[in-house]
Amino acid sequence: MLQTYDVLVIGTGPVGLVAALGFAKAGMRVALVGPADAVKRDGRTVAILDGSVKLLNTLGCWDVIRPFSAPLSHMRIIDDTGSLFRAPPVTFKASELKLDAFGYNVELADLVSCLSDFVSNETRIERFDTRVSEFTSNEGGTVSAYLASGETLSAHVVIGADGRKSSVRSFAKINTKEWSYPQTALTAKFKHQRDHHDISTEFHTRQGPFTLVPLPNKHSSLVWMMGPTKAERLSNVSDRALTEAVEKQAHSILGEMSLVGDRGVIPMAGLRVEKFSTDHIALVGEAAHVFPPIGAQGLNLGFRDVASLLGAFKNRRGAEALSAYNSTRQADVKLRTAAVDLMNKSLLADYLPIDLARSIGLLTVASIPPLRRFMMQRGAGH
Ligand SMILES: Cc1cc2nc3c(=O)[nH]c(=O)nc-3n(C[C@H](O)[C@H](O)[C@H](O)COP(=O)(O)OP(=O)(O)OC[C@H]3O[C@@H](n4cnc5c(N)ncnc54)[C@H](O)[C@@H]3O)c2cc1C
Repeated sequence: MLQTYDVLVIGTGPVGLVAALGFAKAGMRVALVGPADAVKRDGRTVAILDGSVKLLNTLGCWDVIRPFSAPLSHMRIIDDTGSLFRAPPVTFKASELKLDAFGYNVELADLVSCLSDFVSNETRIERFDTRVSEFTSNEGGTVSAYLASGETLSAHVVIGADGRKSSVRSFAKINTKEWSYPQTALTAKFKHQRDHHDISTEFHTRQGPFTLVPLPNKHSSLVWMMGPTKAERLSNVSDRALTEAVEKQAHSILGEMSLVGDRGVIPMAGLRVEKFSTDHIALVGEAAHVFPPIGAQGLNLGFRDVASLLGAFKNRRGAEALSAYNSTRQADVKLRTAAVDLMNKSLLADYLPIDLARSIGLLTVASIPPLRRFMMQRGAGH
């Protein structure tokens, strides 16, 4: 039987869940499609920056998520490339922006689980724990989605929150540019002897950043970007061998460490889309943009997509709202994708003039107060 909704959201990652909640709170009848158990507990965390906290607050979710998170009150960058032209360590403080924290770090699995509970309690959302296998366009301007479980759903507006291999994007025939980096991110969670004092520490190494991000109760998450061969090796060594390698790379700043739970291995890639919408479809989150995890930008950008989309539907409907959404996302997404790409490539370059430029850039940002505040505000998602 064909069931018709105001909005069909495809994808049950954090961005799809937030999009479904946002449209339901705006009074629309929403169908949400995607597997319920898609997120693994592999030490992957996300730093939710100030702008995203505001969105989650508006949706009424933040007070429930907050206890699972640790505040990031300081961000420390240490040049560990071994280059002749190394910038001295730089620490940015949230208090300089009159904020308690730049953001809050939470395990992705905890975030998704909290958001899923909110979705279950929202009467305007009907959730389908399955995948879409096919889409068709209908006369009268609706789109139908055929589910692997046998149902067919239709709506005037379909939101593709179905991640980097988005089938919504393919159906909409939106052109993409995709690229890869010679890096893989190793993720894991550690308990440690010393307090992290709510400081996130990013060591810039020649193979990419090695970042320790605070979690509650003397725990931290690790995102270690490195060449694929080394990542493959470290993903298979014993817990003890991995912990030793991490302690060494961290120059023991957190004292003795012990691994908690599984590790994740994610090859680094980039993707950008020619446009964010068509007459009936909008892309949000990693369906619309992918880049390496530098500066905690990916999910925060995805949440900003949702905020823009909800804003576009405030006084408009259908194709007009979707076109407005496309216009508002172009500049922000292009800027973040280019900035992360540039920073990542400058680390990989191993070329003295580029090291010099990177160091001067960081020192300039750190030592000129208005520029420093501007960069921190941009980094915090303002
Ligand atoms: C190591 C690492 C660290 C990161 N740290 C940060 C950080 O600190 N801050 C930050 O902002 N970002 C961070 N990011 C980025 C962030 O994790 C992603 O941007 C975010 O998780 C993407 O969420 P999403 O909902 O767009 O996509 P996904 O989480 O990929 O969700 C897509 C969903 O769609 C579903 N799906 C796919 N196909 C179908 C289909 N046909 N039918 C139905 N459902 C379908 C999938 O099952 C999945 O549930 C990090 C990324 C990495 C790799």
